[in-house]
Amino acid sequence: MSYTNSPLVSFTKLSPNNSGLRTHSIDTITIHCMACNGSIETLGNLFAQSSRKASSNYGIGSDGRIGLYVEEKNRSWCTSSSANDNRAITIEVANIEAQEPYRVSNAAYDSLIKLCADICRRNNIKQLLWKADKNLIGQVDKQNMTVHRWFANKSCPGQWLYEHHGQIAADVNKLLQVEEGEEEMTQEKFNQMFITAMNEYRRSLQNNNAGSWSEDARDWAVSTGLIKGGDPLPNGKPNYMWPDFLTREQMATLLFRFKDMV
Ligand SMILES: [Zn+2]
Repeated sequence: MSYTNSPLVSFTKLSPNNSGLRTHSIDTITIHCMACNGSIETLGNLFAQSSRKASSNYGIGSDGRIGLYVEEKNRSWCTSSSANDNRAITIEVANIEAQEPYRVSNAAYDSLIKLCADICRRNNIKQLLWKADKNLIGQVDKQNMTVHRWFANKSCPGQWLYEHHGQIAADVNKLLQVEEGEEEMTQEKFNQMFITAMNEYRRSLQNNNAGSWSEDARDWAVSTGLIKGGDPLPNGKPNYMWPDFLTREQMATLLFRFKDMV
């Protein structure tokens, strides 16, 4: 498994506080709250101190910018659980208030949704699942989001983010579906559009419009029976479809008729 980092990151300050390569593939996302309105730079400076013994893979500021502190390939020190952080991407989100319910800004929320969708896409997580059930820890086919409060005596991720986990999953899944749906639609839709447009174009050529320069040739071809019209026009006259394409099938027929003429 080769791991990548999110292209949505605008600030990187790698923290020494990590266990090196993770021992489990990424199949979980754990969203944390900073419990303060810290910028991604401030959080980076905090995680840069080895004495803090803490880190997260990503951080999101109230301005919506995203920071990288521990590369996705490495295990962060974030959720008070080795088992969790070996399989989870951990994300710290800034709060616009330093107390419960620890709300987050709209910009931070939007970035969180985009970052989670990006993490899912790059790590082949089909959708985010949330049941608010601690007993489902590790059963990622039923629930692949976890919260810090399940592993330590903390309120993290705070009331607001905890209560919005279902909404976060729904918003992320909507993004993932739109992207997948658009890809499928594009191929199918393009083919259908091309066929429809081609038929429309052919129809526009099936008439008797022609230049006078070819009049003698056309009269001769019709009088000798080389060219026989298709279905008649609404006015009952034969439709010779002069501007339309000549297929190889029609060319063979023309030559065949001509051979019998000479
Ligand atoms: Zn936490």
